[in-house]
Amino acid sequence: MAEEKPNGPSARSSGWRRAAIALGADRLARRFWGGCGAILMLHGLREDGTAGWEGNPGLGTTVGQLAALIETLRAEGYELVTLDAALERFAAPKSGARFACLTFDDGYRDNYELLYPLLRRFSAPATIYITTGFTDGWAPAWWHGVEAVLSRHPTLDLELSRRTHSFAASDPAARNSSFHQASALLREAKPFTRTRALTQVEQEYNIDFSALSQEKMLTWEMIREMAASGLVEFGAHTVTHPVLRGLPQEEARREMLWSRQRLETMLGRPARHFAYPYGDRAAVDTEVVALARDCGFASAVLAYGGPLRSGASLHALPRIPFGGDDSMDDLRIRLSGLKTALSPPALVYP
Ligand SMILES: [Zn+2]
Repeated sequence: MAEEKPNGPSARSSGWRRAAIALGADRLARRFWGGCGAILMLHGLREDGTAGWEGNPGLGTTVGQLAALIETLRAEGYELVTLDAALERFAAPKSGARFACLTFDDGYRDNYELLYPLLRRFSAPATIYITTGFTDGWAPAWWHGVEAVLSRHPTLDLELSRRTHSFAASDPAARNSSFHQASALLREAKPFTRTRALTQVEQEYNIDFSALSQEKMLTWEMIREMAASGLVEFGAHTVTHPVLRGLPQEEARREMLWSRQRLETMLGRPARHFAYPYGDRAAVDTEVVALARDCGFASAVLAYGGPLRSGASLHALPRIPFGGDDSMDDLRIRLSGLKTALSPPALVYP
């Protein structure tokens, strides 16, 4: 899971995007600010026309949207490469040839069911970052548990730090607002407080969050098959998906190293890359970045930051998010670097 971003018509302001693209402003901007390539950040996939209620729609995209994304990238001259190849190209950029990497966070099962066939169809490589506790079935992707309670019950009561928060789920607007508020509270809670609160919710609403999230996540068998194809590489995304910023250093180090070791044991090959859970400014600071470097990862990616430009730190690599109802116009504008040039993101550096 990454930083939540607004979706829906109010956030689109599609008029100016269409006009800018019609005038060729995105291609012009890309010449100056488009850098040497881009790392795209996605999560889950679903079949076209199958959208149900989701707390964070930005975490999903459709097969059709992803196919269009791959076609658009290639039509715009981007070569789709693995993260390993991207790092080589980043170290010694070839003029004129931009590259793009497709990355998927958390390890959703639809990455095997829907993404893998698509990658084979397009001969396009991708990287999937695995939260190993989700795949092993003992750590919950708790936001899907919150989503499930809000879908099935009129209210969600959450007890955090001796205070009961009551969230309404009577209609879609209330569900959306409740999901965002409850998720924000849970995300920022200390791990022990969060676990206690989630256990109470599981008991009260008779739901097993870990089982629910395991159903949504890849199995090791699926991961092995995709790794053996040579088309998909796997990176680490911690063991339990905590906010690393603010965690005691030893705990943060364990989250990084244990997830890498588990992946390497299960796949019998090195796991060289890492993605910070949530990946936003509130979740990653310079200490966390320094720790990822000290742990020996070849790269670590954020969840924001625009195109990959010279000078970026290998352990705070920017990514371009794509999901929800993002369009190809949104993609072109993000690739151009126009937005990040006009208001540069405060990337963290060790
Ligand atoms: Zn994540």
